[in-house]
Amino acid sequence: MKIVLKNGRILDPSQDLDMVGDVSIVNDQIAEVGRVSSPEDADETYDCTGMWITPGLVDLHVHLREPGFSHKESIITGTQAAAAGGFTTICCMPNTSPPLDDPALIDFILDRSASPEAGGIFVAPIGALTKGMKGERPSDLASLRRAGIVAASDDAFPIQDAQVMLRCMELCRQLDLPVATHCEDLSLAGGGSMNEGSVSAVLGLKGMPRTAEEIQVARNCMLSLETLCPLHILHVSTWGSVEIIKQAKYLGAPVTCEVCPHHFSLIDEDMIPFDTNYKMNPPLRTKVDQDLILQAIEEGTIDCIATDHAPHAAHEKDRTFDEAPFGIVGLETAVGVTLTHLTHKGVLSPLETIRRLSTRPAEIFRLDAGTLKPGRTPVAQVTVIDPAIEWTFDVNKTFSKGKNSPYHGATFRGKPMLTFSGGEVYCDALWPQRIAMMA
Ligand SMILES: [Zn+2]
Repeated sequence: MKIVLKNGRILDPSQDLDMVGDVSIVNDQIAEVGRVSSPEDADETYDCTGMWITPGLVDLHVHLREPGFSHKESIITGTQAAAAGGFTTICCMPNTSPPLDDPALIDFILDRSASPEAGGIFVAPIGALTKGMKGERPSDLASLRRAGIVAASDDAFPIQDAQVMLRCMELCRQLDLPVATHCEDLSLAGGGSMNEGSVSAVLGLKGMPRTAEEIQVARNCMLSLETLCPLHILHVSTWGSVEIIKQAKYLGAPVTCEVCPHHFSLIDEDMIPFDTNYKMNPPLRTKVDQDLILQAIEEGTIDCIATDHAPHAAHEKDRTFDEAPFGIVGLETAVGVTLTHLTHKGVLSPLETIRRLSTRPAEIFRLDAGTLKPGRTPVAQVTVIDPAIEWTFDVNKTFSKGKNSPYHGATFRGKPMLTFSGGEVYCDALWPQRIAMMA
């Protein structure tokens, strides 16, 4: 089986490649990049004129909700949403029920995601950093690592005790396992539901101060410097966090970080008051935060973009703002938001955009992904993006079970059109020009 992607703009940050040309996939492996010999032998040809041909996108921060909460999302619906969003590799967070602190649960995730309905999308599990995600003692991280976790995290339940965090990082350093942290001091932010500031004051909602995030960013960065444990800071949202991470990198700490599309495209003033589709943790911050985050994306202090895809059922979000759970879905809007707010505004070049959505996240968790080099991924993982198409997001037409998005009705420029992964092809309904040629 030979598939040829013809005449696209090939963007592969892993080899600093930005050229117009063709890519061939033969028996589910990338065969040729740039020029394809005997394209007439192809079983299928896709005319990619005007489109980008990129390595499959990689998301380090996804909540798949299974086991335990499959009414919110399942591994199958989550991988379908990933394919529609252009992602071929997603890392799933351990705050399931039970939490992913047992190798048998890692086996379950890997088995389930290898089933045919998962559409060839790779799921890389993140193990619970502490037993039961209770923040008290480390999980059996060595066994979890053998079972296949790519990182460890207590995302959603930030470890409050610095001594516990230090022990976890010492262990992960020995295992050469990256630690990913949601940074929040609960003695400051607990009980809050949005950013603490003028908007929370007007709405009369309890705020979450920026310092609650920054204190833990600083603590974890210094523990990373002390232990040399690779640390990945999840969803950076304040200008102070950015400055601390910049300083930690300067000092030589092995620290990386991500930003979510909502934090560079929305601020607290954009919220529709009391609409729980704007409730996430960390919360939407201010214009000052957003400006510095955009600058940090441009200069590279912020390494990558991750969605924090956090689906919830409608009845769960349909509560008062204080009571509703945190989180929004993100897999199917990430490319649209990123191209509209970063690429088309000149914050990132097309090649840098793909670096932050694919190559760099793959490097951070050492995943076999994020490249078009033949033989460097287990199977071909390729995404085709139309950077110019304008489309309106309709949350009711998504694959995710979660319909909790602040972007319903928003218009974006740029959309993934084709996703090739594990021998499967996802083709967007808007794909205009598929030419299936007979061999
Ligand atoms: Zn999360």
